[in-house]
Amino acid sequence: MKIHEYQARQLLADADIPVPAGAMVQTVEAAVTEAKRIFASGESLVVIKAQVHAGGRGKAGFVKLVRSADEAEAAARFMLTNRMVSPQTPPEGLKVTRLLVAAGVDIAKELYVAVLVDRARRTNTLIASREGGVEIEAVAEKNPDAILKEPLDPIMGMQPWQARKMAFALGLTGKLATQGADLLLKLAKLFRETDASMVEINPLIITPPTAAHPEGRVLAIDAKFNFDDNALFRQKAIEAMFDPTEENAAELEAHTYGLSYVALDGNIGCLVNGAGLAMSTMDIIKLHGGEPANFLDVGGSASEEAVTQAFRIILGDKAVKGVLVNIFGGIMQCDKIARAIVSSAKTVGFQVPLVVRLEGTNVAEARKILEAAKTEIPSMQTATDLTDAAKKVCASVG
Ligand code: GDP
Ligand code: MN
Repeated sequence: MKIHEYQARQLLADADIPVPAGAMVQTVEAAVTEAKRIFASGESLVVIKAQVHAGGRGKAGFVKLVRSADEAEAAARFMLTNRMVSPQTPPEGLKVTRLLVAAGVDIAKELYVAVLVDRARRTNTLIASREGGVEIEAVAEKNPDAILKEPLDPIMGMQPWQARKMAFALGLTGKLATQGADLLLKLAKLFRETDASMVEINPLIITPPTAAHPEGRVLAIDAKFNFDDNALFRQKAIEAMFDPTEENAAELEAHTYGLSYVALDGNIGCLVNGAGLAMSTMDIIKLHGGEPANFLDVGGSASEEAVTQAFRIILGDKAVKGVLVNIFGGIMQCDKIARAIVSSAKTVGFQVPLVVRLEGTNVAEARKILEAAKTEIPSMQTATDLTDAAKKVCASVG
C-alpha cells in the first residue's frame, strides 16, 4: 500500500524527523488561504505540490515554488485542472485532486536516503547517495558507485555506528553529521514500526547557513512510503491512510471479493485458483503465442459468488476476447466449481469464447456437468489438459 506525500510527512514529523510544516488542500481557494497563512508566519517561499501516487512531479511542473498569493493561486489552478504526466504515470496522466501547500526552503545540497527490503541480501537495507533530487535509477545506471548501501541486521536493526558511517559517507560533518545520523536512526525505526517495505526521502536536503543555524539544517522535503499489505491488519493507523481513488478500480473491486486480480495488456482473460497456477497459466498462454489480459487468483476455496464476480470483472475489460478457466481441485471439489462456472456463465452471459480446464477431486462428475451445459453456453469448450487449454484459447482469439 502506498500513501501520499502529505501523509508521509506527517509520519516523519510524528517520528521527530524534521520536515517543513504544510497542509493538504483540495481546492484553489484553500490553497491560497494556506499559502497566505504561511507567508503571514514570516516565510518568503511556499511550495505547492500535487499529491498523487507517482514521482517525477518536479520535472512535470507539478511542484512549484511561489512567492505570492497570486502565484500560489496560478500554481494550484494549473495542478487541479491539468492531468500530471511523468515517466511514472500512465501515458494519459493522473488527475490531481489534492495538493500539499508547505513552507518552501532554501537548498544548499540535495541528498537521497531510503530504507527498503533487499530481497537478494534478505535484509532491510539503508540506501543513500550524495546525488539526491534526481531520479535514483538514473544515478544507479550512470554512476553506480554513487549509491551507498548498508545492510541492517534483521533483529538488531540499524546500529548507531551504521548511521554515523552513512552520515559521513554522505559528506556531512560536525553538527550536520549528528543531525543526519539521528535522522537515519529515526527513519529506520519508523520503517520497522510501520511494517513498511520501502521509505524513500528524495531529496533529503541541507539548508544554507543562517544566523539561527550557522552550519545549516538537515530536512526531509519529499517522502514516499510503501507498506506491506500483509501487515495492515496490525497497522490500523496506516491502513486508514489508504486512498482508493489512486488505485485501479477493477483491482480494488476484486480485492473486496477476496480475489487477487492484476490487470494486464493482453486479450485472454484468466480465471485460476492459486497464485502459482495463475503464473503458470499466464506462461503457457504466452508460450502458445497469446497475451494474458490479467492475473487472477480466485483463491483456494473459490465459492460460486467469487467465481461469478471474477467472471464479471474479467469480462468488464473490453480488451478481453477469450477466457481461460484453469482450476485444480485439491481441497476444492471440481464438480462444485463446474456448477459455479455454469451458473455464473449464465448470470454473467458469455459473448466471448470460454475454455475450461478442470483437474483433480471429482473431475469426472465435473466434466459431466460441463458437457451437459454445452448447449446453454455455446461459447464454451472443454480442454483435457493445460496445453490443450492454452492452444484452444489462443486459437479462439485469433
Ligand atoms: P518529485 O519530483 O515528485 O520527486 O518531487 P520533489 O518533492 O522531490 O520535488 C522535486 C524538486 O523540486 C526537488 O528535488 C527540489 O529540487 C525542488 N523543491 C521541492 N521543494 C522545494 C523547496 O521547498 N525549496 C526549493 N528550493 N526547492 C524545492
Ligand atoms: Mn522527490
